[in-house]
Amino acid sequence: MMADPHSDDPALDEQRMQFVFELRRCGVTDTAVLNALERTPREQFLEGLFRARAYENTPLPIACGQTISQPSVVGLMTQALDVTKRCKVLEVGTGSGYQAAILSPLARRVYSLERHKPLARSATKLLERLGLVNVTVIARDGSRGLPEQAPFDRIILTAAAEDPPANLLAQLRVGGIMVLPVGQSDTVQQLIKVVKTESGLEYKDLGDVRFVPLVEGLAEDV
Ligand code: SAH
Repeated sequence: MMADPHSDDPALDEQRMQFVFELRRCGVTDTAVLNALERTPREQFLEGLFRARAYENTPLPIACGQTISQPSVVGLMTQALDVTKRCKVLEVGTGSGYQAAILSPLARRVYSLERHKPLARSATKLLERLGLVNVTVIARDGSRGLPEQAPFDRIILTAAAEDPPANLLAQLRVGGIMVLPVGQSDTVQQLIKVVKTESGLEYKDLGDVRFVPLVEGLAEDV
């Protein structure tokens, strides 16, 4: 079950209201996306002291040296992905599971791939606890995609590649959309939207972002 956006705690309600206001200010205007962001308890995707900062519009550290994305970037990427209830979606880079939780109410089915097993495990547990039964998290190298479930209607990468990975483009359905950050790590990257048409690929630049790099292979941690 997702949290009721109105809790018994007026301070939390106020924080959430400011949060939605800030997301709108950053250009997140799609009602379904805003609802998903308002109803998803971001504090549960964080640990320790970072929980108190869950409703700030900022990326924060999670386990395995990774980060939970900035909420406005999650909103803008989700909005650009244009997800409908008919969509089968692939996410590469589960991290905390927050982006997958936002996709869950919008999509028919979500598959999310994570190269760090501890992150895949904790995200699986949390998404289960929240009752998000249409999300499946799998510990594996997402740069290869998930051929056994392809083609996908939508693909979202939350780690930056130098170019859109060919394996993933091949797993996108004609008419499908892929949203991803591209560029070298440790510099500013571009968020791009790729639409696959009968005649090829169309690219649109959505602005500057900064993500952790897409790294090939499963991580060694267990
Ligand atoms: N979507 C996440 C953001 C996570 S940061 C959230 O909402 O919290 C990006 C994640 O991508 C990291 O957890 C990192 O381990 C993962 N990642 C990087 N390269 C990967 C790969 N090749 N396959 C799967 N996951 C990868």
